[in-house]
Order: sequence, then structure tokens, then C-alpha cells
Amino acid sequence: MKTAVYPGSFDPVTYGHLDIISRAAKLFDKVIVLVSFNPAKPNCFFPLEQRMDFVQRALVELKNADNIEVDSSDGLLVDYFKKREADVIIKGLRAMSDFEAEFQMALVNKDLFYKAETIFLAADVTGTFLSSSMVKQIAAFGGDVSAFVPHTIINDVTSKLKIKNEG
Ligand code: ADP
Repeated sequence: MKTAVYPGSFDPVTYGHLDIISRAAKLFDKVIVLVSFNPAKPNCFFPLEQRMDFVQRALVELKNADNIEVDSSDGLLVDYFKKREADVIIKGLRAMSDFEAEFQMALVNKDLFYKAETIFLAADVTGTFLSSSMVKQIAAFGGDVSAFVPHTIINDVTSKLKIKNEG
């Protein structure tokens, strides 16, 4: 039984994330999508509960999500990794710009806990330019994000962004 943990802010979850989740779910027996607090990004737009709910509802779009779990953590990733007796950390790589920070994080996690191996999955072609921040910017100005945000959550994502923008 091999368990993978896929951590991130998911503010909000995009089709780029969903692609990584579905591919990881084919490679591992269990995938835990860990909606986390990232001290480098302390001001998430969507509250944690809602980010988790978005991921959970986005999973409906996958053919088989039986081995995917959604959880949250505001502590050290390696502590969660140990607690769940996980085998790998999954990270998505979009471009070289992701690489340096993710590589550093992978080395640090391995140093903190020698069993914490990180596996990188390359983003698919369409996901390469896609980020949660881009979605938030486009939606705040009323742009069409239907190609980027799972259709099961798109109304909730865009309405909240527009309300904030108008307020
Ligand atoms: P954070 O940057 O706070 O860890 P994100 O939600 O931005 O959280 O990203 C979580 C993980 O998903 C990271 O490994 C990131 O590189 C990856 N990721 C984000 N967007 C995409 C995408 N469009 N395609 C593939 N991987 C992605």
C-alpha cells in the first residue's frame, strides 16, 4: 500500500491541480490532497474550509476518486507525513520557475525526515501556464475562467471573487 500526499494552498483548486491529483491517483494506492497553511502565502483568498470543500467537489469530475482523500494541516508537512505513514510527497512542476523553490523544499523535507521522498509530476501542456493567482485575477475582473476552474465549483469561486472586487 503506497500513499502519496499532495500538499498545496489550492486557493482555489484548478484543472492544473486536478490533473496532478488524477495522475497521482493512478500511480499510488492512496492520494491525500492536503490543503495546507503555507507561511509564504499567509493571506489566502478563500478560507481553509472552503478550499477543502472546493477540492472535494472538484473530485466529482474525476472518473474514479475512490482512493483520493482530502485533509488539511497547519503544521509541518513532514509531521503529517509521519502521522499518516505516507510514502511520497507529490509536487506539480509547471516550469523552471517552480523548480528552484520546489527542489529546495524537497531537500529540506528529506533532511527533516529521511523517508520523505518527493516525486515531481510535470504539468500537462495546458496546465503549464495555469495558477490559482491567475484565476483570481481574471475572475476578479469578470473574465471567463471556465477552462481553468472545475465546473462543479466555478459559480462559487467567481461569485465570491466578484463580490470582493465590488466591495
Ligand atoms: P503552494 O504553492 O502554496 O504549495 P499551490 O496550490 O499553488 O500551493 O500548488 C500546489 C502544488 O500544485 C504545487 O506543487 C504546484 O507546483 C502544483 N501546481 C499548481 N498549479 C499547477 C498546474 N497548473 N499544473 C500542475 N501543477 C500545479
